[in-house]
Amino acid sequence: MLTTKINRVAARAAFYSIRAYSSLPLSVTINLPNGTSYEQPTGLFINNEFVIPKQKKTFEVLSPSTEEEITHVYEAREEDIDAAVDAAQTAFNSDWSHGEPAHRVAVLNKLADLIEANAETLAHIESLDNGKSLICSRGDVALSAQCIRSAAGWADKVDGSVVETGSSHFNYTRREPLGVCGQIIPWNFPLLMFAWKIAPALATGNTVVLKSAESTPLSALYMATLIKEAGIPAGVVNIVSGFGKIAGEAIATHQRIKKVAFTGSTATGRHIMKAAAESNLKKVTLELGGKSPNIVFNDADVSKAVQSLVLGIFYNTGEVCCAGSRIYVQEEVYDEVLAEFKKAAENIKIGNPFENDTFMGAQVSVAQMDKILKYVEIGKNQGATLVSGGERFGDKGYFIKPTIFGDVTDDMAIVKEEIFGPVVTISKFKTVDDAVTIANNSNYGLAAGVHTTDINKAISVSNRIRAGTIWVNTYNDFHQNVPFGGYGESGFGREMGAASLDNYTQVKAVRIALTKTN
Ligand code: NAP
Ligand code: MG
Repeated sequence: MLTTKINRVAARAAFYSIRAYSSLPLSVTINLPNGTSYEQPTGLFINNEFVIPKQKKTFEVLSPSTEEEITHVYEAREEDIDAAVDAAQTAFNSDWSHGEPAHRVAVLNKLADLIEANAETLAHIESLDNGKSLICSRGDVALSAQCIRSAAGWADKVDGSVVETGSSHFNYTRREPLGVCGQIIPWNFPLLMFAWKIAPALATGNTVVLKSAESTPLSALYMATLIKEAGIPAGVVNIVSGFGKIAGEAIATHQRIKKVAFTGSTATGRHIMKAAAESNLKKVTLELGGKSPNIVFNDADVSKAVQSLVLGIFYNTGEVCCAGSRIYVQEEVYDEVLAEFKKAAENIKIGNPFENDTFMGAQVSVAQMDKILKYVEIGKNQGATLVSGGERFGDKGYFIKPTIFGDVTDDMAIVKEEIFGPVVTISKFKTVDDAVTIANNSNYGLAAGVHTTDINKAISVSNRIRAGTIWVNTYNDFHQNVPFGGYGESGFGREMGAASLDNYTQVKAVRIALTKTN
């Protein structure tokens, strides 16, 4: 087993060295499992053109559901980030940022139309590259289009105000764009995070240099073709594939990038904040991890609540920052909820992401699968009871069965740490106060679920839980107009809705001394 692994690594290393300096075409034809094919760009997207990076290095893109290579793409390094920033800076100095906002409304609406027109291709790319089921990918594509359309609606409504200070002065404020924004996105929702990031930045007249995650670069590059087709001017959106420690680092430390927006792990988020502080004090927004509680009260509609528990942890194979990974059930209904939840988990269709009724596809990478399985072992070793799952599904592709742990205590690693996979803990509580206390017993604060038929309880508990999103009688239920973001170590800044625009504008105050006229 180990030898096979070593051989594979050696083979890959040899492959890299051959391919690294050879000429990968800037577009390759990819055949999709639905019998169609499409042209996949492979270059860096700078100034509305696909280009080969200075060092001409490429890296491999794998399909996690088959473990096979899909293609290679070109890799951005520091000097390429500089070129992307140059393009973005020139675009920022143009009419894009300073001209009539109706232009931004029009091109963003056009981009949303193009996403919808190419929805099936985009969904298939996402399932191929990330391993997620088509059910999930189709949802991501739809929300991406809606998010960009919603931002288009805001683009000509980014108004300042008049401030009254008496007749000696006239004061007004403007909400001005920041400049070139760096955006670093993760692999769990490659297309959706792309949309969440570019939508408010573009609506407010900024320009961007966006780095996709190394394991999922394909949908962002495909989006580049739609960006050009939508009429978004050259240099406004620049997209680079590459590694966090090289391209990501170059963005975080760049002297001419005015803001960095990051989604990913808390550890990398901390590092980016430091890099921003030590370079040019660029503004930072962070959307980080979580360990979100999903609470079921005695008076909940049990079968509906169970649907939310399933959606909360097994949607997107649990690779969701706001996954409801800590389930707490009030004691009267605990046995019933656990029995129904176990049954529902065991009925989930897992496997080939391209079958229409598959709910759970593959984890994104072998590293992620190994990390999840390691947590399963830790859970067992620390004395939790494995109620269901806890192992790989099949032996090809990075599939893991829906996994439930019972008999857990608050100090166990599987209760405290973000696993980022289809692994959930379930335990009992007695009173409403107990539920609030355990829900808040975390350094994170991204989301929470509350299941009850009592509106007073729903509101009072929601108000007492320290998290950026509370879902009542639902879970993982996003809307493009509703802001999303963290409390505590889950980060700061908001995505989607009007609140997201605040992260991409700065307020300028103009105070004019008036002279009395006769
Ligand atoms: P990560 O390191 O936070 O990666 C997220 C993004 O940051 C990727 O584009 C990554 O590039 C980039 N990056 C990494 N190091 C960087 C650096 N020094 N400077 C600038 N950018 C950098 O996450 P990961 O390593 O892929 O996953 C580790 C764990 O993070 C997961 O197991 C999960 O627990 C958590 N996670 C959370 C979220 C979320 O939405 N909250 C998303 C993904 C992962 P590369 O991909 O090229 O490294
Ligand atoms: Mg991939």
